[in-house]
Amino acid sequence: MTRSVAAVLADTAAQRPNHSAVIYESEHFTYGWLWEQARRYASVLRANGVRPGDRVALLLVDTPQFPVVYFGVLAAGAVAIPLNVMSTASEIEHVLTDADARFLVCANTLLAQAREAAGSLATVLFTVGPGPAGTVDLENAAPDAAPIDDWAAREPDDVAVVFYTSGTTGTPKGVMLTHRNILYNVDGMVATPYAFRSSDVLLGCLPLSHGFGQICGMLTGFRAGISIVLMSRFSAPEALALMTKHRCTVFMGVPTMYFVLLDAVAKGGQVPRLDRVYSGGSALPANTLDEVRSVFGCPVYEGYGATETSCSVAYHYPGLPFRAGTTGVAINDLTVGIARPNADCIELLPVGEVGEIVVRGPTVMAGYLGRPDLTAEVVVDGWFRTGDLGRQDGDGYLSVVGRKKDLILRGGYNVYPREIEEILVGHPAVAQVAVIGVPHRGLGEEVWAIVVPARPEDVADGSDEEIIEWGKQRLAAYKYPRRVEFTDALPMGSSGKVLKRALVSKYESTVGS
Ligand code: ATP
Repeated sequence: MTRSVAAVLADTAAQRPNHSAVIYESEHFTYGWLWEQARRYASVLRANGVRPGDRVALLLVDTPQFPVVYFGVLAAGAVAIPLNVMSTASEIEHVLTDADARFLVCANTLLAQAREAAGSLATVLFTVGPGPAGTVDLENAAPDAAPIDDWAAREPDDVAVVFYTSGTTGTPKGVMLTHRNILYNVDGMVATPYAFRSSDVLLGCLPLSHGFGQICGMLTGFRAGISIVLMSRFSAPEALALMTKHRCTVFMGVPTMYFVLLDAVAKGGQVPRLDRVYSGGSALPANTLDEVRSVFGCPVYEGYGATETSCSVAYHYPGLPFRAGTTGVAINDLTVGIARPNADCIELLPVGEVGEIVVRGPTVMAGYLGRPDLTAEVVVDGWFRTGDLGRQDGDGYLSVVGRKKDLILRGGYNVYPREIEEILVGHPAVAQVAVIGVPHRGLGEEVWAIVVPARPEDVADGSDEEIIEWGKQRLAAYKYPRRVEFTDALPMGSSGKVLKRALVSKYESTVGS
């Protein structure tokens, strides 16, 4: 096994230098060009003080510059800290301080928030293209720089990337992934039948700053030598058009993308001829999976993972018999178990029982940066506690029941929101739904459904009761929602997941109204 994540690009650049690694705005960028450019950037970074092990924050748009800077940082032996483009100045400042990152590379279009964040700190600010005085322009300095060639000198247990969690369930934490963690995941996926084929063309619309888009998309794709059509901002009509134009064979996305893609097709968008699609990041409702399969005419493979496990934990892949309601089986070298929730030590439960999903193996993170206390809470005896509830069948297929934090306790009964959501989304008037627990004096919590209607113009008096009745007929008495609220859109985090905490805080204040 190679030691540095930079080898992912270096190896493919050596094998197929003239193959398009990235296609962006109809321009092709080859593996050879990306790697050469990355090594020039590495040289400029070093000339400006970046040393092996230094932490370099990246505030970059998803253009070909992202892989160039990312691999440049890794080739310089530094640690990449990718930030979401929507980060505010104070969020960036938090990361720079928390990670003790003295360097920030930013896209020119994001200079305002980068400068505001870096202003009060002694941060060295690099730009990609001309920037104001006091900044270092990587792009213009690169042509004069000699590409470095001592890029591989990292140890497997050195940290390669720190991902800041987006805070879907709490305060952002820096997840430290080592070269070994990431390479195990990438090589593990490429070695299974999940593998991209080198002739594949992927629509890269997941943010490259997030683990799913970066590790499962960019790194795994580059390892396999595919071409990635980059989109700097996802829009369903444009995604359909790009996939058709560039003859994409693979789409990889989060469920919210599938909802809007189906909608765009219903409004007349051209259906691309895909070979397969992958879904992950949150639960894909069964009826959406069926619809995607029938509209795109290809298999849909759902996977499950978390940043702390270098992304993939379990997945369906070509050749694995499909089992509805599951996210497939564990990837190479990972052991997945179901443990008794909230116990002090890891106590594995028998097959079929619902408990906390725990994961052990070479992809489990090195820890949360600067937070050994939090690390010790979630990594116990080598097992990572995912915070998700699930069950496994006798053949190892994993079903994700939902997040522990989203579990609703109604009158002493456990209510799993996902189960209710799966039922309610089957109602023709429901486009999307999030089920939450809202405080209730007698029961502890009451079950509410927050619904995005399929046709807002059809919402009328009594529409909420129809949906409640739909649930009542299909669910046990303690599970069906007692209240339905309509909304135009559900609050989403940067990685396209519903922010249930935000919904609970919004609606708990209306209790009793
Ligand atoms: P944050 O960045 O705030 O920590 P997050 O908790 O969503 O957000 P990620 O690492 O991005 O963290 O995502 C991992 C989580 O996503 C899992 O713990 C699980 O809750 C959810 N998830 C991922 N894939 C699936 C899936 N196929 N089905 C259900 N849930 C999933």
